[in-house]
Amino acid sequence: MQSRWSDADARNAVEIYGTAGASEDLALRVYSTRLLGSDPLLVLHGGGNTSLKTRMADLVGDMHDVLCVKGSGRDMAAIDPSGMPAVKLAPLRKLRRQASLDDAGMMATQRAFLLDPAAPSPSVELLLHAFAPAKFVDHTHANAVLSLLDQPDGRELTREIYGDRLGFVPYHRPGFGLAKAAADILDAEPKVEGLLLDKHGIFTFGDTAREAYERMTEMVTLAEARLQRSRKAVFASAPLPRSVAAPAEVAPILRGACSAAERQVEGAWRRLILEFRGGEAVRRFVNGAEVARYANAGVITPDHVIRTKPWPLIVPAPEAGELECFRQDVRAAAQRFATSYADYFARNDVRTGGGKVMLDLLPRVILVPGLGLFGLGRSKADARIAADLAECAVHAITDAEAIGQYRSIGDADMFDCEYWPPEQIKLAQVRELPLAGQIAAITGAGGAIGAATARVFAAAGAEVALLDVNEDAARDRALAISASALPVTCDVTDAASVRGAFDRVAEAFGGVDIVVSNAGAAWQGRIGEIDEAVLRKSFELNFYGHQRVAQAAVRIMLAQGTGGCLLFNVSKQAVNPGPNFGPYGLPKAATLFLVRQYALDYGAEGIRANAVNADRIRSGLLTDDFIKSRSAARGVSEKEYMRGNLLGREVTAEDVAQAFLHQALELKTTGDVTTVDGGNIAAALR
Ligand SMILES: [Zn+2]
Repeated sequence: MQSRWSDADARNAVEIYGTAGASEDLALRVYSTRLLGSDPLLVLHGGGNTSLKTRMADLVGDMHDVLCVKGSGRDMAAIDPSGMPAVKLAPLRKLRRQASLDDAGMMATQRAFLLDPAAPSPSVELLLHAFAPAKFVDHTHANAVLSLLDQPDGRELTREIYGDRLGFVPYHRPGFGLAKAAADILDAEPKVEGLLLDKHGIFTFGDTAREAYERMTEMVTLAEARLQRSRKAVFASAPLPRSVAAPAEVAPILRGACSAAERQVEGAWRRLILEFRGGEAVRRFVNGAEVARYANAGVITPDHVIRTKPWPLIVPAPEAGELECFRQDVRAAAQRFATSYADYFARNDVRTGGGKVMLDLLPRVILVPGLGLFGLGRSKADARIAADLAECAVHAITDAEAIGQYRSIGDADMFDCEYWPPEQIKLAQVRELPLAGQIAAITGAGGAIGAATARVFAAAGAEVALLDVNEDAARDRALAISASALPVTCDVTDAASVRGAFDRVAEAFGGVDIVVSNAGAAWQGRIGEIDEAVLRKSFELNFYGHQRVAQAAVRIMLAQGTGGCLLFNVSKQAVNPGPNFGPYGLPKAATLFLVRQYALDYGAEGIRANAVNADRIRSGLLTDDFIKSRSAARGVSEKEYMRGNLLGREVTAEDVAQAFLHQALELKTTGDVTTVDGGNIAAALR
């Protein structure tokens, strides 16, 4: 591992943060924190922290010795001085005299001595930073160091490499006990350049930001060098099927098995989003004959347990063409996972006095021999984090096994981290959105109604895939929504394109729960004189397009086995034909019937089918020019034309999107048509 320290960048940081009022020390502290945080081999997703001891004024101008320490949950790669709250050092150090500090006391400590009461909460590892005398203290969960510490003889192994340059702290859960144990070792060995925390990570110290940082890179380099020596071959492969099914086919089966029916609301499911990783190192790991031993041995560093649970779900290899058998195996494996997680909870809840609230019984990492691994989470972002941590574990465990045998903390220690009270409180504060964990695919998403629907569904917590025949339109609309919104090129008049698009959605998110079949276009002409080719073209898009999309979605929904929701943009034309609109209205009338057929045929599987009949919405079908000519022909203003309905209100794409959202949320409604047209008695259904 190379030091990436650059004097020019460091000077730059001093200048930039200096103009915002940060001292040189704090600016350099922020600079080297970012260096550490931007290297995934050192720090991932909020793991690791750094600190600086300095002097600062409080709100009335009195000077104090303070500890500026990384804010809890802050990303080191993007930190700035405001992310390093200052805490008065003297009272923190006084705490060391106490024999113990319970969780409530520990939490109070996080905020009690802040210089600025509005600052973010400091890291839970602040006491260890406070008790260490060094001015600059850096802490990471460096992969290479973990591969050495996560061994039965981690202490001897690291001593061979580091001698007495680093103190060794036996495993303690992060918090007061760990901070005291570390401080005792620093009293006994005041000359050490840092500390190794067994089964957890490494600290390095320095008089300057550069010294602490470069000690970190040096120590990690020494660990990396040791991992290159006397390696043995690892992970002899288990026998695998000749042909393994693709992730797009496997993911919906996994996702369905790793969903839980909500007890309070019939028809509701707690669902997760998936993120696939299939690189070579991952595949070698999951293919190993002994995968159950090393993958179930526990987390590589304690804070991963919050994101990954103590162990992954391991399923058999999915043989192509034999997926029904695979589906049953996965369901049985997920059931065993749930049982063993519930046992783990019950056992440890009793041990710790009871009263904790059990998390869900669903895995956060799934290992699939022959294929790779999946991270799971309530959102795509969470699924990615789980997958990143799982991949990180793959590398650390591979190296650990190559030089010895991987060994983690036990169940009890993992439970104490997973169910640490501050984590439980954070969880209780999370307010989930109504479509959290769900995946919605919207066709015609490049247009006004499709884009508005994608936006509304994403705002309601769904992961959204924007399907459109126009690649640029899909991409631009997706970019405007979020980083995880997925643009997919899809021509609904082409069966292969539709199938490919839904495979893409399943691969990206794990499946699909809601489809808004919205793509359409209008053709006009008097029905007695229309060219049959035009009528057929309209049927291809305005009827068969919906059928292809619904069929592709149902295939995935049945694989998941957790129901689903098919929503169709029909049109008032389906019930109230307009003059010369036959080529448009006829296929839409057939689509209205299609909605009812899906409702009838798939109700037993929990798949609902509903439609929105909208009228007179500004969109690609009803352009500004068209509105101008129509209103002129009728001798009314454009405004009057757009408000020509019973309520006298213009109907917007947003109104249609809201109607789709309601239908997605109405778990007891199927075969329904909602009219969004401002009121038109001739188009009323009954
Ligand atoms: Zn740590």
